[in-house]
Amino acid sequence: MKIKVCPVCLSPRIRRSSSFDGWLIPVTYVCEECGYRGPVYLEIEVDEEGG
Ligand SMILES: [Zn+2]
Repeated sequence: MKIKVCPVCLSPRIRRSSSFDGWLIPVTYVCEECGYRGPVYLEIEVDEEGG
């Protein structure tokens, strides 16, 4: 499966800065790890643990 990660520190603790769907303002992602804010995120492929 793929998960979103921070493009700066590669932390998976990245979330959308707004609870809105972004039809009025561009979607911004915020990294809770390094404080990155921006419209860009990375997607990486990971193996699902357990099951
Ligand atoms: Zn980060």
